[in-house]
Amino acid sequence: LPSKLPDVGGTIFAEMSALAQEFQAINLGQGFPDYSPPDPLIRAVADAMAQGHNQYAPMPGLLQLRQAIASKIETQHGHAYAPESEITVTAGATEALMSSLLALVHPGDEVVLIDPSYDLYAPAIRLAGASAVRVPMRPPETNDPSFRVDWNRVEAAITKKTRMLVLNFPHNPTGLTLKPEDLDALEFLVGKHPILLLSDEAYEHIVFDGQTHLSPATRPLLAAHTVMVSSFGKTFHATGWKTGYCCAPRAVMREIQKIHQFTVFSVSTPMQAGIAQYLRQSDALSGLSGFYQKKRDRLTAGLKETPLRPLHTEGTFFLLVDASAIGFSLEKTLAIRLTRDIGVASIPVSAFYADPDVPAANHHLLRLCFAKLDTTLDAALERLSGLK
Ligand code: PMP
Ligand code: GLN
Repeated sequence: LPSKLPDVGGTIFAEMSALAQEFQAINLGQGFPDYSPPDPLIRAVADAMAQGHNQYAPMPGLLQLRQAIASKIETQHGHAYAPESEITVTAGATEALMSSLLALVHPGDEVVLIDPSYDLYAPAIRLAGASAVRVPMRPPETNDPSFRVDWNRVEAAITKKTRMLVLNFPHNPTGLTLKPEDLDALEFLVGKHPILLLSDEAYEHIVFDGQTHLSPATRPLLAAHTVMVSSFGKTFHATGWKTGYCCAPRAVMREIQKIHQFTVFSVSTPMQAGIAQYLRQSDALSGLSGFYQKKRDRLTAGLKETPLRPLHTEGTFFLLVDASAIGFSLEKTLAIRLTRDIGVASIPVSAFYADPDVPAANHHLLRLCFAKLDTTLDAALERLSGLK
């Protein structure tokens, strides 16, 4: 059978979760919490079902949820999206990203990705008949132990064929967040080149150390060229609910909805009604960063007792560890070994690069998810402390 994605296998997340299950390992690989969404949110969804919100939602999503999203974004970023025409509720951030790429990217186009990049973007670009141009971040160095985006390199990758630049901040897997100077650089790029920005902000509510999440939507020039994508799964500890959304200027959203209506038409009605209701609570979105910062700090502190050296993370519920103190050839081999022999699953960072089999300078990094109960983190640390 001729394949449309000949070199795509199962995703690394499915692969490592299956391995974790096989070896009964503690799963710090695939990013999902091992605790439940807030009780009032669960009750709101259950009430929505009991009250009869069980048939198709309107194609763009329940109006009350789109209104709640618009109001949330206006409070956060000062940008007003029109609920009637500029917001779509999607089947997770995943569907928002796929629908946006299929709708906006044409055969022969180029789309710039910043590596390491989330695994969905490149295959989606290929399905749109376009090609991904991948610009690596500068890896951590001794005198600057953080990944950095070099916007000059990003600009150098832009050609006449470039339709879009994909952004993902807070960044999976490095945890990098956008700073005002990054938005300045993006304004320069968007002012000079006719490109769209696809801004994957799945972790928008998880940023640490007193920072606030800077969305491109905070700048009117950027908002006019941006599709903003987010995930209620990440925000409400409910990854299995597969509910997210995207926002974009009306003409752009019209195109996205042409794909959305023929992939899912609309997404789960009771989830939407429950989330809309829950978002009315004044504390619905507060406390998440503090909650995760404690977990980041717990895992970081515990890792000091292991040969894995934690890198600083500014947001998301992931942190990277440098495993170079342990002998291995590819870090994927190490991730498999740790799952099988030590009983802790992780994600090899090579999965976020163009060719995962080519060892690059920074392919000694594993991603750990700390969206876990403290007892789970402690049990994983206990196992990792046995590592030589
Ligand atoms: N983008 C990024 C960067 C992610 O890490 C994920 C996984 N949560 C998604 C998109 C997909 O989000 P969802 O589960 O809402 O489809
Ligand atoms: N976004 C999640 C992660 O990075 C995985 C989601 C998925 O399994 N597709 O771990």
